[in-house]
Amino acid sequence: MKTIAVWADTEGAPTTCRKCDAPIVFVRRTDSDKWTPFDGTRLVFVRTELDQVDTKPTRTIGYVDGASNHFATCPFAKEFRKRDK
Ligand SMILES: [Zn+2]
Repeated sequence: MKTIAVWADTEGAPTTCRKCDAPIVFVRRTDSDKWTPFDGTRLVFVRTELDQVDTKPTRTIGYVDGASNHFATCPFAKEFRKRDK
């Protein structure tokens, strides 16, 4: 399973996709620090780990199933990509 690492403490309140009205949750990715929407009303972590960088308080990194990335599952995904350019 391809997973995406996110900062668990940035999980937002459940909302809905402006394009298809599906329930989604936004969270920041650890690699790009970009807000990314995932399917569902809350995040489901495949596994979690503590950040190795010495920050206080230590942050938790959650791994989310990459297949639930709403940028990929949304019927209007092409429009998201267009806007990113
Ligand atoms: Zn959508």
